[in-house]
Amino acid sequence: MSNAEKGSLYEEALKTLREAAAILKLEPEIVDAIANPEQALIVSIPIKMDNGKVKTFTGYRVHHSTARGPAKGGIRYHPNVCLDEVKSLAFWMSIKNAVVGIPYGGGKGGIACNPKEMSQGELERLTRGYSAAIARFVGSDIDIPAPDVGTNAQIMGWFADEYYKIAGKHEPGVITSKPLSIGGSLGRVTATGRGGFFVTVEAAKAFNIPLKGARVSIQGYGNVAQPIAQYLHELGCKIVAVSDSVGGVYNPEGMDPLKLVEYKEKTRSVKGFPESKEISTNDPLTVDCDILVPSALENQITKENADKIKAKIIVELANGPTTPEADKILQEKGVIVLPDVLANAGGVTVSYFEWVQNRMGYYWTEEEVDEKLKHVMTKAFKEVYEIAKQYKINLRTAAYTLAVKKIFEAMQALGRI
Ligand code: GLU
Repeated sequence: MSNAEKGSLYEEALKTLREAAAILKLEPEIVDAIANPEQALIVSIPIKMDNGKVKTFTGYRVHHSTARGPAKGGIRYHPNVCLDEVKSLAFWMSIKNAVVGIPYGGGKGGIACNPKEMSQGELERLTRGYSAAIARFVGSDIDIPAPDVGTNAQIMGWFADEYYKIAGKHEPGVITSKPLSIGGSLGRVTATGRGGFFVTVEAAKAFNIPLKGARVSIQGYGNVAQPIAQYLHELGCKIVAVSDSVGGVYNPEGMDPLKLVEYKEKTRSVKGFPESKEISTNDPLTVDCDILVPSALENQITKENADKIKAKIIVELANGPTTPEADKILQEKGVIVLPDVLANAGGVTVSYFEWVQNRMGYYWTEEEVDEKLKHVMTKAFKEVYEIAKQYKINLRTAAYTLAVKKIFEAMQALGRI
């Protein structure tokens, strides 16, 4: 039996796995073996807040699968982090890493906290506490964290430092997306957006959708979305709507993505950006556009709003932005969904490149990283697209079919199933 609770995010996440398993004709017992996470660690992290009081945070780290390699996936700092969410995110990492063919299983971690309300000192103490608490659960051949929502390169630096002290050695491959000065990779900051861009370009070719003049709408204008906005803009697309957790802006004539970044850096939100109309955080999902890029959190496109979506292509840079029910509605409407496990895999792919460089102790140029990323993303799109055509299924189920087959074969080769 799968250990997902009924109605949980994790149970929802397994639905596509079951569809792929049916295509691959896998027995239910085998599906359970693939679905269930291998290990989960829950830790308490008491830290001194700036006001002198102690506050205790709960942190998680889940190894969903290590069949294809060490667990790999980010760390999320967000108030809604819980075991169910981290399990789902870890599962998606196993699928994602298999889709792009990098030699990792899947893992994820997180802390229930609100980093926007914490000082740098508090964040550093929390990160060091978390690193110490999960140190025995991670390692460059065990489980390799990276950033996710609410975390960044600086947090990776603190995590690494604490780990090095406990391990008594320098081991940069223990965590990726580090600052360049301590073994980060060129091209990692823009990698998720860059990878999503390569997949979008391939999909536009495959489905005959012109990109020049295409109207783009983005929910969640953060680290992941800002680069793709820039690349699409350079190609002649118009950025007509963007939002973040505070609010959103709309201009049918298009907005300059770099000016939006500058404005957000100054005011902490895109809200109030000049020469635009104010919209809500969720409005970008349903505005009139050709390409929709959900780049915020899971469960944003639901059965309530799926029918109102006007985009021709959805590029899922967030993890799990579309519920299975919404997916069905989109498919009936003929919307092409470039699924998260493919569209946002550029980030973890360059994380892999960083890990490889750390292990070699030899570093690549930005051009080398970019060329390798393009190769991985283009190849993955083509493989997924071929499976979709072969079985007459959507790209998400096709991506899962590709991934589940690889995970199944690895588990079989190890003699685990
Ligand atoms: N958090 C990112 C993701 O969801 C990156 C993970 C990584 O680089 O390991 O794919």
